[in-house]
Amino acid sequence: MAYDVHIIGGGMAGSEAAWQLAKRGVKVRLSEMRGGGDTTPAHQGNGLAELVCSNSFRSDDHENNAVGLLHQEMRELDSLIMGAAEVAKVPAGSALAVDRDVFSAEVEKRLSALPNLEIVRERIDRLPASGLTIVATGPLTAAALADSIGQATGADSLAFFDAIAPIVHHDTIDMDIAWKAARWDKGGKDYINCPLNRDQYVAFREGLLAGEKTEFREWEANTPYFEGCMPIEVMAERGEDTLRFGPMKPVGLDNPHWATPEHPNGRWPYAVVQLRQDNKLGTLWNMVGFQTKLKYAEQVRLFRTIPGLENAEFARLGGLHRNTFLNSPVLLDRQLRLKSAPHVRFAGQITGCEGYVESAAVGLMGGLMTAAEVAGRDWTSPPRTTALGALLSHITGDAEAESYQPMNVNFGLFPPVDAEVRKKQRKLAYTQRAKHDLQGWLASA
Ligand SMILES: Cc1cc2nc3c(=O)[nH]c(=O)nc-3n(C[C@H](O)[C@H](O)[C@H](O)COP(=O)(O)OP(=O)(O)OC[C@H]3O[C@@H](n4cnc5c(N)ncnc54)[C@H](O)[C@@H]3O)c2cc1C
Repeated sequence: MAYDVHIIGGGMAGSEAAWQLAKRGVKVRLSEMRGGGDTTPAHQGNGLAELVCSNSFRSDDHENNAVGLLHQEMRELDSLIMGAAEVAKVPAGSALAVDRDVFSAEVEKRLSALPNLEIVRERIDRLPASGLTIVATGPLTAAALADSIGQATGADSLAFFDAIAPIVHHDTIDMDIAWKAARWDKGGKDYINCPLNRDQYVAFREGLLAGEKTEFREWEANTPYFEGCMPIEVMAERGEDTLRFGPMKPVGLDNPHWATPEHPNGRWPYAVVQLRQDNKLGTLWNMVGFQTKLKYAEQVRLFRTIPGLENAEFARLGGLHRNTFLNSPVLLDRQLRLKSAPHVRFAGQITGCEGYVESAAVGLMGGLMTAAEVAGRDWTSPPRTTALGALLSHITGDAEAESYQPMNVNFGLFPPVDAEVRKKQRKLAYTQRAKHDLQGWLASA
C-alpha cells in the first residue's frame, strides 16, 4: 500500500501516533520488528503496545496528580492507549492498571480495523532518507537503527538502566500471613501485603546486600540508574531504612492477623512488601517497586524469606535493561523533528520522556503534528499549562540539555500557579487551570 507516513515501532508511542494519523485519513505504514523474527531483551510476545514491566498507568486522579491529568487530556483527544486501557482495566485502587494481554490485543484490534493503516512485521535498519517518518522504537531500539540515528544526530545516545519487578502466581501466596488492603484503606482492598517484623526486615536487607548480582559489561559500568526505577539492592545499600521509607513502607497498613484486644484492627508491620494485581483474572501479582538485578536463583531464595511468599512461584523474575534516548532539547525542534533532517520526527521514550503514559502522549502529539503537516496546516502546541504541553516543552527545549534525563510528567514541569494559592489547594489549582486551557486550545484547533 502506498503511504504518506512511515511509523517505525509499534509500541506505546508508535501505536498511538498511527491511530491519530490513520483515523484522520492519512495513509500509514507501521513497521514493527516483533513478529518478523526479531525481539527486544524485555518484550515477551509479538503484540503491539506490549507493557514490558508493571501493568500500571499510575494514578488516575485527574484532580491532584499530573499523570492522572495527562490521562484525562489524552482521553479528550480520543487516545487509543486510554481507550484500550478502559477495556483492559483491573482493580488497582486509585491507579489505572490493566491486563497486559487484553490491553495489547485491544490496541491491535482497533488499529487493524483502520483501512488507511498497514501493519508490517519488519525491522528497519536505517533512517529513511526522505518521506515523513516517525521513529518510535523506544528504549530498546534495535542496534542497527540506533547506529543510524547516532550517525544522523552526530551524537552518542545517552543510556541509563531500568529494572523489571518480579511477578508471582497468586495461588502460591499464603493469605493466612499476607492480607489484602490499600494504604489507609483508600480505594478498596486492592493490594496484597506481606508483613515483616524488624528481625525479618534486617535479615532481608542483609540478604540483598550479600546476594549475587548480575555482572555489568564494561560499557555499562558507568551508566547511572534512573531514580524512579532503582533496583532494591541499590536502595538497600543507601542505608538501613531506605527500603522502609520506599517500596517497603508500612504506614497506613494495619495487619489484621496481628489484631489484639488493644488494637482490634491490627498493627502496622515494621516493613511491608506489596503486590498488585497484574492481569484481569487476578492470577498474577507483581511485587511493587521490587526491580532487581539479583541473579535469578538468588531472587527466588531471598524472596521466599518474605512472610507469605515462602512457597511463591514466580511467573517472571526481575531483570535489568539498557535505555537509549536522544538529547532531545538539543537535537529536536519544538515539533519533535530532527533539526538536521526535519522529515524525521521522534516520539515516545526515545525522546527522553519516561513511562508508558508519557510515551503514548508524545506519540499522540507526534501523530497530530504529522497529520497537520500532511494537510499543509500549521500546528500549535497545547499550552504549557496543560500536562501535554508541559511534557512537550520540557522535551523539546525547556529541559537542561547538559543534564538531560528521562522525565515523568509532574507539576514541576508546569509554570507555577499563583503563590497565594494555599499549599493544600495547589495541585487542584494546577489541574483546574490545565483543564480550562486545554478546552481553549481544543476550541481553537
Ligand atoms: C524493561 C523495561 C521496563 C519498563 N518498565 C516500565 C514501567 O514499569 N512503567 C512505565 O510506565 N514504563 C516502563 N518502562 C519505560 C517505558 O515507558 C516503556 O518502555 C514504554 O513502552 C515506551 O514506549 P515506546 O513506544 O517509546 O517504546 P516501546 O513500547 O518499547 O515500543 C517500541 C517498539 O519498537 C520496536 N522496535 C525497536 N526497534 C525497531 C526497529 N529497528 N524496527 C522496527 N521496530 C523496532 C520494538 O519491538 C517495540 O515494539 C520500561 C521500559 C523497559 C525497557
